[in-house]
Amino acid sequence: MSNVRVRFAPSPTGDPHVGNVRSALFNWLFARHSAGQFILRVEDTDSTRAQEGSAQAIFKSLAWLGLDFDEGPGIGGPHGPYHQSERKGIYTPLAQQLLDEEKAYRCYCTRERLLALTEEQQMNKQATGYDRRCRDLGPSERSDLEHSGRPFTIRLKVPFEGSTSFHDYLRGDITFENSTKTDPVLIKADGMPVYHFANVVDDHLMGITHVLRAEEWISSTPIHVLLYAAFGWDPPLFVHLPLVLSPDKRKLSKRKGHAGTLEHRDEGYLPEAMFNFLSLLGWSPGDGREVLSRDEIVSLFSLDGLLKHGAVFDRAKLDWMNGEYIRSLPPADLLERSLPFLVAAGLVPSNPTPGEYEYARKVVRLVQERVKKLSDMPDHTRFMFEEQPVSDPGASQKWLERPETPAVLQHFIQRSAAIDPFEATVLEDCARQVAADLGLPTGSVFHPLRVAVSGRTEGPSLFHMMEVLGKDSTMRRLRTAAAGGL
Ligand code: GLU
Repeated sequence: MSNVRVRFAPSPTGDPHVGNVRSALFNWLFARHSAGQFILRVEDTDSTRAQEGSAQAIFKSLAWLGLDFDEGPGIGGPHGPYHQSERKGIYTPLAQQLLDEEKAYRCYCTRERLLALTEEQQMNKQATGYDRRCRDLGPSERSDLEHSGRPFTIRLKVPFEGSTSFHDYLRGDITFENSTKTDPVLIKADGMPVYHFANVVDDHLMGITHVLRAEEWISSTPIHVLLYAAFGWDPPLFVHLPLVLSPDKRKLSKRKGHAGTLEHRDEGYLPEAMFNFLSLLGWSPGDGREVLSRDEIVSLFSLDGLLKHGAVFDRAKLDWMNGEYIRSLPPADLLERSLPFLVAAGLVPSNPTPGEYEYARKVVRLVQERVKKLSDMPDHTRFMFEEQPVSDPGASQKWLERPETPAVLQHFIQRSAAIDPFEATVLEDCARQVAADLGLPTGSVFHPLRVAVSGRTEGPSLFHMMEVLGKDSTMRRLRTAAAGGL
């Protein structure tokens, strides 16, 4: 086993969007490629931002994509608990250590004072930020405040001068002037740590070797680096991943209606297609290939293959890729995955009989080439399940109302009545024969037959549709159409 230990550390502040899950995926891939460990840690210390059900949505998203973790909520591990809200007892003594070593200080400034300060800074067109008033309290003032029982936060002492640098795997050395940062709060008045503190402490205690996370965290990293230094710990290797962008090149955000991960599941994207698609958002195998199996991606994944520029979430490409995966499914698998959508649309009963199951299996197979998302399956197949297809008025007008159509249908009905078994190739020969008998181009036979059977001008192979419908159903449809009933 290698010593690679990576983590996905989501804050449960909403359903994870695909950008969040892409970070999880890259960590998982790196761990699996390196035979390392993938850890899930829920960063839930900010109860004001936590959203009911969000952690569950995160677990479900990871499970849907098959991103199993080696340590984390539910399964535990040697560094638990893996919910930060349960780790207060770990953080408190470490914050006290920084106080004792005078690397941090108690800040008694009230919310009101801080708000007034920001307002004043804005009015004077100054940069906003804490003015460090409590950093330099005199001993008696400090002792008075300590004994007054006033609530306090704990802030880190950021050096006034100099700079803080760190190395980012993709971007090289990044340096921030310390003068651009003020003293951040580490521990809030309720005793809970803020993100920076808990994140650094846990990455250290959990032995995290590489931090792969979205680029938006770069500006927080100097604080993290200062904290590592304050504790005397080595920081992990930082790899800030390029953002996942919406097609208009903006940052992807759930609030702006960019679909969450589970919405993709509910729309009928296959997890293996989503896995493949997400893996290419910021990484490339280097050989131009796009459709790659999970195992291939694991074996090819490396930090060297990461791309520096933002990756656009191109839904048309996802649809194409999903179609590729749908086409490669074995028929029984295709049905199993389509069933929830067919049942929800009322086309197949939730407990189908063996006969209904077998029929549905043939129906989905019929449209396998044409479906891009499983949620499209009901629309593609509805006419195969209904007693009589609901005809598209344009289609009937165009083909069923032609003067020769009734004769075409009648002729086909008579000729095909004896066909047994009712098979596509024989049915096609029969239709061609009808065209020859009546001296019509094949289109004048095929099109009306198609509309009579399916109510539409487009769809899967006409004669395979008839074969799957079977003789009784096909004949009933043809007779209804011939009698002008569509
Ligand atoms: N809790 C942070 C988030 O929600 C984690 C950022 C990090 O990976 O350090 O994304």
